[in-house]
Parts: sequence; C-alpha cells; structure tokens
Amino acid sequence: MASAAPTSEPDDEPTEETALETARRQLERAAAHLDVDPGIIERLHHPNQVHRVSVPLERDDGSTAVYTGYRAQHDSVRGPYKGGLRFHPDVTEDECIGLSMWMTWKCALMDIPFGGGKGGIVVNPKDLSIDEKERLTRRFAEELRPFIGPTKDIPAPDMGTDSQAMAWFMDAYSMQEGETQAGVVTGKPPVVGGSKGRDTAPGRSVAIIAREAIEHLGWDLEDTTVAVQGFGSVGAPAARLLDDYGATVVAVSDVNGAIYDPDGLDTHDVPTHEEEPEAVMKYDAPQKLSNEELLELDVDVLIPAAIGNVLTEENADDVKADLIVEGANGPTTSAADATFEERGIDVVPDILANAGGVTVSYFEWLQDLNHRSWSLERVHDELESEMLDAWAAVCEEVESRDVTWRDAAYIVALERVAAAHEHRGLWP
Ligand code: NAD
Repeated sequence: MASAAPTSEPDDEPTEETALETARRQLERAAAHLDVDPGIIERLHHPNQVHRVSVPLERDDGSTAVYTGYRAQHDSVRGPYKGGLRFHPDVTEDECIGLSMWMTWKCALMDIPFGGGKGGIVVNPKDLSIDEKERLTRRFAEELRPFIGPTKDIPAPDMGTDSQAMAWFMDAYSMQEGETQAGVVTGKPPVVGGSKGRDTAPGRSVAIIAREAIEHLGWDLEDTTVAVQGFGSVGAPAARLLDDYGATVVAVSDVNGAIYDPDGLDTHDVPTHEEEPEAVMKYDAPQKLSNEELLELDVDVLIPAAIGNVLTEENADDVKADLIVEGANGPTTSAADATFEERGIDVVPDILANAGGVTVSYFEWLQDLNHRSWSLERVHDELESEMLDAWAAVCEEVESRDVTWRDAAYIVALERVAAAHEHRGLWP
C-alpha cells in the first residue's frame, strides 16, 4: 500500500443517480415553479470554478505518494463559498460539484451569507497514520491557499476529516499568511476559534425541525414515537433532544444494528459514536433489530441519520412512519421520494433539517472575525431562531403552492439565489 499512488478516480457507479445529477434535477424542479430568467438557471447548472490539485505526501516509510484533491466552488452571489472537505476513496470531481450545489441551496435556505463549495482528497484516511494525515492536510491547505480564505471560501470538516484536521488546516494557512486567520475554516476545536455547540448542531437542528413538523401536523409530542438510524454526531443529539422535548424514542442504531424498546429508550444512557464507537448493540434493550427493520418500524417519525441512499424503491412501500426527517445527507433516493409523495408520507429534506451544522459554522466564522466567543446558550438561542425562520419560509411555500417539503425548501433557496443574481447582474 505504501508505494501506491492513488491518483486515479474510482469508477462511477453506473446505476445510482450521481450527486451532480441529483443537484441539477432538483434545480430544474424548483425552477419549474418560479419565474426566473433562464440565463440565471443556466449559470446555476455550472460551478464557477473547480480546482484540481495534486497533493504529494511523504509516507512514514520515506516513500512519496501523490493524491488528487478537489475544491468545487459553485456560486458565490450571496457570499464566500462554504462547504466541507472530505477524505474518502470515492471522492470525484462531479461529486464535489454536486455537493457544492447542495451547499448553495442550504446556505440560501438558511439565509446565511455564503455560497456553495465542497472539496476533498481521493484517499482512504484509514490507510494513513495520524502523522501522515496531518502532513496531507497541511499540504492540501497549501495547494488550495490561492483559492480560499475567510472572505473567499471557508472549508469545514466532512467525511474522513474532523476538528483536528481543521486546526492543522488553519495553522498551515495562517503560517503562510503571517498571521492567525481563524476564519479560514470552521469546525475547529473551540480553543483555536471553534464555536461551542458546533458538534451537536446538525442533530440539534434535526430535532428542532422534527418538533416543528410534529406540531404542524397537529400531533402531540408526548404521544409521538421516533426511530433514529445512526447514533453519531447527527443521530445522537437529535434523538436525545427529541427525548428531552417529550417524544418517545423507541429505536436507535449504529452500523451493527438497532435497539428497540416500545416503551421508549433512555437515549442519554445509550453510548454515542463519540462516547464509545459502535456500542449501541451492547446496550441492554428488550429487542435487537437490523437497520433494515428499524427503517420499517411502525413509528410516527423516522429519522435516517447515518448514511445516504437507505430509503430506496425496494423498501419505500414498507416504511410505516408518517413523517420522515432527513438527518443524513441524501438518505432518500428519488424513486423512494416519489413513492413517499404518492403514499402521502411527509419528507422534510436534509438541506433544512441538518442545516444546523452550517448555521453554527456561520456563527463560528462571525466569532472568528470579531475575535469574540459566544456562550453555548447564545449559540443554542440563535440556532433555534435561524431554524424557525427557515422553517416558516418553507411552510409558507408548502401552503401557498401545495408542493412537497423538499420542493418548497429548494424553491425558497432558488428564489433567494436567483434574486441576488438578478440584482447583481451579469458582467460584462
Ligand atoms: P458519525 O460517523 O458521527 O455517525 C454515523 C452513525 O451512523 C454511527 O452511529 C455509525 O455506526 C452509523 N452507521 C454507519 N454506517 C451505517 C450503516 N451502513 N447503517 C447504519 N448505520 C450506520 O456521522 P455523522 O457526522 O453523524 O453523519 C451522519 C450523516 O449526517 C452523514 O450522511 C453526514 O453526511 C450527515 N451530516 C453530518 C453533519 C455533521 O456536521 N456531522 C452535518 C450535516 C449532515
């Protein structure tokens, strides 16, 4: 392995819709509801820039490997690009472009002044020692340095990267700039400019949005049962907060399977992925299920918060929940989405539900630029208020246009991005 130089991209999977195809299809769907200049829609089909860099790494054994890195910058009409950096063997240029488009919509939907970016390195981080990961991250920061910065493009952690990687990235960038530039990335440890509450923010927003959707449907939280797939950064805080709100969380899972208690689990007692990785099944619960069975449980609310593409045309007819709140990115395939629409199952989309992550990243950036740190209470209060604003905007579209929650969220986002393009115009 040490001599391998994985510069080539893996084959694209032939059958699944790619992230870019999905992003373009959703753009078209939203555009069909709006009276937007076709020239603006055409511009939004394409990323402004995609940077491809070679990232050389001295391995621990003294050999040199060269990895391919990308940074896709989709649209910056509302502000600097924002989005994660992933270290994963399946990273491709098209995936980065598609995910950068999603970030454009997510930031616009949350009404935060960022555009969409996404990047990564084609590498399996499990093949790297911690020292190698540090050297690779620092060199990637150096390769991307001309294209990023606190007012240009602000990366964040994603699959295979974490707060430590962001600290290295910020340090490498800052050393070359000659001054500490904490605002160049978000998702850092709080001691070097990270925000309190960033870790649990995506899960927190999932719980807030689920609570609002439950209320919108006229249900009583106390009588509502919930199943959550995945008990990591998104699933665990979402399950725990819904439990605190009074809902009955009957099932949670990790990669090994699910635990189920029809009377409700004590979610604060079940170890999260961070507290003890993959230990959910060790918890003493009345029943153990597979992840597939969890998705088909007879519950009121299903929260897929582990990985993408788990709700498919194969299982969509067997899902018994009446409300799905997407915690993971892209857990529902377009075929499953169509089935849910037909069956009258409400699906609250990822770009709204898990947007707490990017929203608290925005708070982190504000704190960095102002050299001032916010209390956890302030982060929670401001997040709650941003989520409620976004929820209200989406509700308005659902009610006025009779569209799905997903279409409504994209309509809100596209309307804002298109209006900004309209005002700024095309130059020259
Ligand atoms: P994580 O690694 O912290 O936790 C993932 C959880 O899912 C773990 O409990 C793991 O055991 C479980 N899991 C992994 N593979 C599984 C499988 N095949 N079947 C069932 N369970 C499985 O990850 P996370 O940060 O919570 O991310 C989960 C999802 O949320 C991803 O789609 C991610 O892109 C998305 N997301 C994360 C953030 C963030 O800031 N962490 C923000 C927005 C969206």
